[in-house]
Amino acid sequence: MSELSWRTKRKGFWIFKDGKVVKDVENDKRCYFIVKSDEKDHSVIFDKTKKVFTCDCEFFSLKLKDCSHIYAVKLFMDDKNGKS
Ligand SMILES: [Zn+2]
Repeated sequence: MSELSWRTKRKGFWIFKDGKVVKDVENDKRCYFIVKSDEKDHSVIFDKTKKVFTCDCEFFSLKLKDCSHIYAVKLFMDDKNGKS
């Protein structure tokens, strides 16, 4: 996997810190998250079987690597796992 830039990580960290990651629905195969942002909300999907994240933002569709929204969701999931 390609390494994320510090900008992406910093942005994702603050999205997470500001509580902008909301878990939507989860089923056997997928987990859906809403990531709120100033312009529009993004939807991040975690595919449990393939263990991959996808996002509907432009950054992700252009570069096909983790965007700040996905990074924020990862932090969110780690946080939840740590608490349970
Ligand atoms: Zn994104």
